[in-house]
Amino acid sequence: MNTFGIVFLTALAAATAIRLFLAGRHLSHVRAHRARVPGEFASEIDLASHQKAADYTCAKTGFAMIDVVVRALVVLAFTFGGGLQWLHDISTAWAAEGILRGLLLIALVGLLTTLIDLPSDLYRTFAIEQRFGFNKSTPGLFFADLCKGLLVGAALLLPLAALIIWLIRELGAYWWVYAWAVTVAYGIFVQFIAPTVIAPLFNKFSPMEDPELKARVERLLERCGFKVKGLMKMDGSRRSSHGNAYFTGFGKSKRIVFFDTLLAQLDPPEVEAVLAHELGHFKLRHILKRMALSSAVSFGFFWLLGFLMTREWFFEGLGVASPSPAMALVLFMFASPPFTFLLQPLGAMLSRKHEFEADQYAAQHASARDLVSALIKLYRDNASTLTPDPLYSAFYDSHPPAIARIARLQKA
Ligand SMILES: [Zn+2]
Repeated sequence: MNTFGIVFLTALAAATAIRLFLAGRHLSHVRAHRARVPGEFASEIDLASHQKAADYTCAKTGFAMIDVVVRALVVLAFTFGGGLQWLHDISTAWAAEGILRGLLLIALVGLLTTLIDLPSDLYRTFAIEQRFGFNKSTPGLFFADLCKGLLVGAALLLPLAALIIWLIRELGAYWWVYAWAVTVAYGIFVQFIAPTVIAPLFNKFSPMEDPELKARVERLLERCGFKVKGLMKMDGSRRSSHGNAYFTGFGKSKRIVFFDTLLAQLDPPEVEAVLAHELGHFKLRHILKRMALSSAVSFGFFWLLGFLMTREWFFEGLGVASPSPAMALVLFMFASPPFTFLLQPLGAMLSRKHEFEADQYAAQHASARDLVSALIKLYRDNASTLTPDPLYSAFYDSHPPAIARIARLQKA
């Protein structure tokens, strides 16, 4: 093992240890606050709901701790354990030297990692979600989703991978600039077709019907000066009773999607407030800002990949004796998470800032009080904990803790 191998192992061990430490803190914090509903929520959330949220959070976090260790072992098996070298040998036996061999390696890695993740996905859905009454999926639907996901993933990613391998083989030292530009453009294209081409493969979308709600929503859109064709209801209840709403696509394909479960949980004024929050994300250009930021970050990643690809120590250090462009892509995917792990709190922090801003927007264009009551209902019905560990939450959470969000909205 060379120096890079030792650096990688150290980073992997450190990232795993930090994840376990944070999860352990979260578990004990949630347990310690299980006995009593926090004062701010005492009148809206009963003790049974609060304790269900605590138990649900502990079940998920406890299992996530096992998963963290398993994932680290899987990375070790693929790299130092010779897993990638073995897949390389298979792809060499099956395909002649060229782009096809590279694609075969990438497809085999994708298939194998999906199969390795399968037991924990099954446990999450049919043990944890089931136990707390959230799972609505069946084994048949689960496996249909799995197959569709694999096919869609292959259809979307393999052409891009083929193009990148081709650029690496054909262009000189600056292939990575072209590969970056192609990847960013392709990402925009995928986001554009996602609402109309990809999402309908998994869910049914229908226009929102309720006349009272529709009238409210149209007034809100007019107040905000917003043109959106698609205001859709999605059959989220097919898989889970968790409710949600999201913004998707852009340009002409942009639409706002409400889970049917969310529409069932909230009154029309609350739906309006949630919609105003989603409009806030759009009006405040959060989506554009995120895309710009992730493009900038991926520029750095492609530069790094271009650098590493020409260094033998990168391959050797991770237990691979057969360098190739496809192997470099795969190895980069396995090797980067322990290093980029420390960027996670920065991303989460930015996301929480955007959530506060979208809440503020909703308070100005709809009613802060309705958004507060919607949030409380969503926390209660989704069994989201009201008492996360502060450090854990700062590190991971894309949304601010309920108490912080509600306190700001009440001031608005
Ligand atoms: Zn939001």
